[in-house]
Amino acid sequence: MDDTLPEEINLLRDSLVRFMETEVKPAMADYELRGEFPRALVKKAGAAGFYGTVFPDSVGGVDMGFLASAVVSEELARNDVRFASCNNQQASTCPYCIYTAGTPAQVLKYVPPLLAGETIGMMSLTEPGGGSDALGNMKTHAKRDGDVYRLTGSKMFASMANETDVGVLLAKTDPNDPRSATAFIVEPKKYPGFDARPIDMHGLSNALRTNAVFLDDFVVPVENRLGNEGDGFRIVMQALQAGRITVAAKALGVARACFEDAIAYANERMVRGQQVGRYQMVQSDIADMAVAIEATRGLVYTAARRLDAGLPTNRIAAIAKYHASETAKLCADKGQQVFGGYGLAVETRISWLKAYADLFFTGEGTANVQKILIAEDALGYKVADRHHGQTQFRNPRTDPPTMEIAGSNKDAVAT
Ligand SMILES: Cc1cc2nc3c(=O)[nH]c(=O)nc-3n(C[C@H](O)[C@H](O)[C@H](O)COP(=O)(O)OP(=O)(O)OC[C@H]3O[C@@H](n4cnc5c(N)ncnc54)[C@H](O)[C@@H]3O)c2cc1C
Repeated sequence: MDDTLPEEINLLRDSLVRFMETEVKPAMADYELRGEFPRALVKKAGAAGFYGTVFPDSVGGVDMGFLASAVVSEELARNDVRFASCNNQQASTCPYCIYTAGTPAQVLKYVPPLLAGETIGMMSLTEPGGGSDALGNMKTHAKRDGDVYRLTGSKMFASMANETDVGVLLAKTDPNDPRSATAFIVEPKKYPGFDARPIDMHGLSNALRTNAVFLDDFVVPVENRLGNEGDGFRIVMQALQAGRITVAAKALGVARACFEDAIAYANERMVRGQQVGRYQMVQSDIADMAVAIEATRGLVYTAARRLDAGLPTNRIAAIAKYHASETAKLCADKGQQVFGGYGLAVETRISWLKAYADLFFTGEGTANVQKILIAEDALGYKVADRHHGQTQFRNPRTDPPTMEIAGSNKDAVAT
């Protein structure tokens, strides 16, 4: 219970904790053992409304906003960060891109099943040539061929690509413009030419995987283009603003999980006749973790509240994401010390929570990328929120679906 949050969000948190305790935690170990994606659990989470917090009822959302979404991400990650791995694909970046840039027909066809957990999402931007400058290094290209595009190239770290039914993927359509990309709604199970291969990642889930993707004349109908040719990066950048707050909230959840595990162990483990929590140097680590978590919570919730209020958010989202990922790393590291040798055992959760702390440091914009944005803003070189008011961040609760650019996507509407 957090007495600074609205009651409806506290109730949502309580019901998610119950769901994780009764449905997810008892089942995840088996999914991990089998390396099987937990489709049934994702469907149950969707049916309970956990993926729909920022979307209106008209597309199957529960209309509670970004603060509620941050709390859901935090609590998913605190309870089982492996299961939380698909949260962005179901509830944030993937449906958000479609909602804000899709035609009404695209929105109604693809967003409700994603939020319901009936289809599995994906957001594929990164390529082998680099993620920090994804656009500058993008090699994947899409060639128009009558009523379809044919996509050729490769993508990297596309999470859930080996399971996805409906994803958003970026490709170049204009070889003469190095900084233009086009976004597509892709359906890998329906059309040929998409090959996803899970990558072995140290410490991360065996059931919810990230992938290398190879595209060989992969077919995307023209009607599945999002917006116009060349709009892709703008569409994705908007989604990443909210996506970074989701990742920051997950990092907060992981930090809390490390903290709680460390507290429990420090109170239980006896060394020289007393609990290790009685030793001042252990207390120093516990205090550092508590302080970092409270500061992160403040930042993450502030960033989410600003999104809900329609205020400029790019700078605070970068600060929250950077700080939260530092906090997750700090808590995983200090927490593991509390466990001594047992902190290295796979059956001790903190040993693999560390890998997720590292992931949050890198995914959806590395720590360096966040720091560049923060420092350039502070130094007056580039105002982080300079686009606010021009390409207004679109809040699905208050803004109707589809950007103005989608309205002019005549091909997509006609075919
Ligand atoms: C488990 C996992 C899941 C992921 N899921 C997805 C997904 O679903 N979809 C997707 O599109 N991507 C995904 N990613 C990719 C992720 O977003 C990228 O890894 C990230 O953007 C960094 O790109 P990179 O790994 O190519 O590193 P690079 O861009 O090659 O960077 C390497 C290093 O150089 C630093 N660096 C780069 N540029 C600068 C600069 N200008 N100044 C200072 N330092 C710099 C970086 O901070 C980093 O430390 C995932 C990654 C992981 C690990």
